[in-house]
Amino acid sequence: MSRILILGAGFGGLELSTELSEALGDAAEVTLIDKNDAFVFGYSKLDLLFRDATREAVRLPYAEFTKPGVRLLRETVTAIDPAAKRVTTDAGEHEADYLVIALGADYDLAATPGLAKVGTEFYSVAGAEALAPKIREFSSGRALIGVCGAPFKCPPAPSECALMLDDELRRRGVRDNCEIYYVIPFGTPVPPSPETSAALSGEFETRGIELITGKRIASLDPELNVAILDDGYEIPFDLFLGVPKHRAPDVVIESGITEDGYVPVDPATLATKVPGVYAVGDVATAGVPKAGVFAESAARIVAQHLIAQIQGGVEPGRHLGQGTCYIEFGEGRIGSVDIDFLSGPEKTGHFNPPSAEQMALKESFGATRRARWFGRA
Ligand SMILES: Cc1cc2nc3c(=O)[nH]c(=O)nc-3n(C[C@H](O)[C@H](O)[C@H](O)COP(=O)(O)OP(=O)(O)OC[C@H]3O[C@@H](n4cnc5c(N)ncnc54)[C@H](O)[C@@H]3O)c2cc1C
Repeated sequence: MSRILILGAGFGGLELSTELSEALGDAAEVTLIDKNDAFVFGYSKLDLLFRDATREAVRLPYAEFTKPGVRLLRETVTAIDPAAKRVTTDAGEHEADYLVIALGADYDLAATPGLAKVGTEFYSVAGAEALAPKIREFSSGRALIGVCGAPFKCPPAPSECALMLDDELRRRGVRDNCEIYYVIPFGTPVPPSPETSAALSGEFETRGIELITGKRIASLDPELNVAILDDGYEIPFDLFLGVPKHRAPDVVIESGITEDGYVPVDPATLATKVPGVYAVGDVATAGVPKAGVFAESAARIVAQHLIAQIQGGVEPGRHLGQGTCYIEFGEGRIGSVDIDFLSGPEKTGHFNPPSAEQMALKESFGATRRARWFGRA
């Protein structure tokens, strides 16, 4: 029986093991490993920040992920030997015929001097939880939303944060006492979609949010509360809402399979240079943005390739890099952008303005995954 080892039960790992279970059932031995005991949607961090959500309310326990043929183990991966397809964890060793790395991207706080000391980021669950009370207390001065490096997960997320912060300050009647600055390394808020970028930039202008593009936060002075941009420009702040620099987890980098911080793969098949080893999602350089929808669609392609090799019968497709990212525009309005990065010669991003339909589609996005992976109604 073929043994498939999947590292990481995020968007990529959950979808891949679900697909394999549906196609192969008990005919393959699928082992899914994650160090955590629950999955949390990336966008739930905004609910922790601005909607008084609790960790308990947003977590989806892995105990509820039960699929025929899939064993989910709560272990921490400590070493990966791609050539031998052997993985060491805090609980022992695992060997496989096929290895899929889906460990996501980690945050490299040390890459931005001063960030760890300032300590306020909203890209991890713990970071968002710690920042939420500081946002509620913030009632005068300058808030700075700052991205420390690209690529970063869900490129629209810091824009959503800026608009939701503006809402929150207006709701409390303190917006006139506050400034909101927003620094991103891209030339526009959502580069592949000029229409989406124009809509977001229009919102920022209307609401008096100061957008600074094409620059990143290079360092922070925690004593003076000053952010220094990569061109040396200094921005004093009273509250910093940071997006740390990302890279593959250390254990992946130490395995020798990365280049420039991520695992290079064939964008069409997600195969690495090592036969029988694939990488999906944020851990890979796959020609698509770092977002759950793309981790998921990549996982479906890897599933097709594994099923074709194990039992035949399916012609595996290629990853087209298509997916919809929903965007909070503030005041409860939700729009989206339909991304297509790999199907044609050009990257495209079609904008869907905020509407009741988009709001319903975002709700359905979460609900279908909760049902498919965790059996929740
Ligand atoms: C604020 C915010 C908003 C977002 N909004 C959206 C959105 O609206 N739509 C969207 O599509 N995406 C969104 N994202 C991005 C999305 O969350 C990620 O791109 C997605 O989770 C990537 O999936 P993945 O499977 O590659 O990795 P992950 O989902 O990060 O999963 C990786 C898993 O690996 C595990 N792991 C890591 N290291 C180890 C180890 N050593 N041992 C064992 N397990 C380990 C982790 O515990 C984790 O469960 C958002 C992200 C943020 C931060």
